Amino acid sequence: MAERLTREGRQVVIIDREIPGLGSTVASTAMLLWEIDRPLFELAQVYGLGKAIRCYRASHHAAQGLVCLIAHHGIACQMRPRLSLYLAVDDSPKLVRDEYAMRSRADLPSLYLDHGALQRRFGIARAGALLSRDAADADPVWLTRGLLDVSLQRGARLLKANAVAYDSAVSGITVGLESGHSIDARHVVLATGYVMPEFVKPTAQQPTSSWAIATRRQPGNLWPEQALIWEASRNYHYARTTADGRIILGGEDDHALIEPAARDEATPAKVRALRTYLKLLWPHASDHVAFSWSGAFDTTHDGLPLIGTVPGCKNIFAAFGYGGNGITFSFLAAELLATLIAGGSSPLLDDLAIDRDIPG
Ligand SMILES: Cc1cc2nc3c(=O)[nH]c(=O)nc-3n(C[C@H](O)[C@H](O)[C@H](O)COP(=O)(O)OP(=O)(O)OC[C@H]3O[C@@H](n4cnc5c(N)ncnc54)[C@H](O)[C@@H]3O)c2cc1C
Repeated sequence: MAERLTREGRQVVIIDREIPGLGSTVASTAMLLWEIDRPLFELAQVYGLGKAIRCYRASHHAAQGLVCLIAHHGIACQMRPRLSLYLAVDDSPKLVRDEYAMRSRADLPSLYLDHGALQRRFGIARAGALLSRDAADADPVWLTRGLLDVSLQRGARLLKANAVAYDSAVSGITVGLESGHSIDARHVVLATGYVMPEFVKPTAQQPTSSWAIATRRQPGNLWPEQALIWEASRNYHYARTTADGRIILGGEDDHALIEPAARDEATPAKVRALRTYLKLLWPHASDHVAFSWSGAFDTTHDGLPLIGTVPGCKNIFAAFGYGGNGITFSFLAAELLATLIAGGSSPLLDDLAIDRDIPG
């Protein structure tokens, strides 16, 4: 967000109460997918084909835009273009085949692999999968720090402070800090992850925790083409490789365990479950765990982010509810909120509005 606004020559003050990048971002496995947590065919059933395709295409543009932005600034964050594999979870390929039909109608770059093709090319035994272009992976903290550095070089200021109050006036906002100081600004963007202030009150947002493991280095045991892997299910597992030859595997999401102490207590059981899953997914790998961790992040019922004006607060904007696409959606949020602040509009701002009605 700061990179996007400083690019337009705006004066930007970034407030973070921690070291930037150490919220949900440091826990992220940083699979930069354009494929959204809810499949296109399901979004089309809920919202109609037009809106569903618009959201998917916007996500695809955002993933490509982020890769270009990082390349443009030469940010060293181990970003690698990747293929992604979206695996069927049960014995029937119907769900991924239906999704393939929908994506073809939307001109999205996915191919259907049946059981045999998947087995031959990737050595993975599932009923079917979608193979997609234009994904990437990266180190999420270096990516964030790189964009932050660009913003600071352009004159943005970074304050370590806890924002505790937001007072709207006709021409702007006063942000009250815990230290007793305050900042007057014309616009405020809340990009505070899953800890949004009370007054934002979305109806369809839910913090969730996810667990991840990284194996020891095993460059000889990785699956072909080192595609990003995830699954066609609500509570999916996800896996990638790293530049130094590890396998990172995540999942076992839980809405009930958000506080760090509760997450830590659950970690041994979650790690056992992830190791078991790794053995099923890719039996050639060593399941020796070098690192394990967990983090909380924000999800929504429809898999789409919450981006736009905070209802009832003219000059306060927010970007959150990113689900498993946090890094891709942060690029989309920066584009959309910069447009909004400049007085522009986009149908996506209705699609992703914070007070939108999310069925079921
Ligand atoms: C285990 C795990 C795996 C994930 N995997 C992926 C993945 O593969 N791909 C992907 O795209 N996404 C993934 N995500 C989601 C992604 O990490 C998040 O969506 C993304 O990092 C959110 O970024 P953010 O900047 O909005 O929030 P955060 O990184 O949480 O940053 C918010 C910042 O706001 C600050 N803050 C909050 N309140 C205040 C306040 N009142 N005053 C001052 N500062 C404040 C915090 O200190 C923090 O630094 C994963 C998440 C987890 C936990």
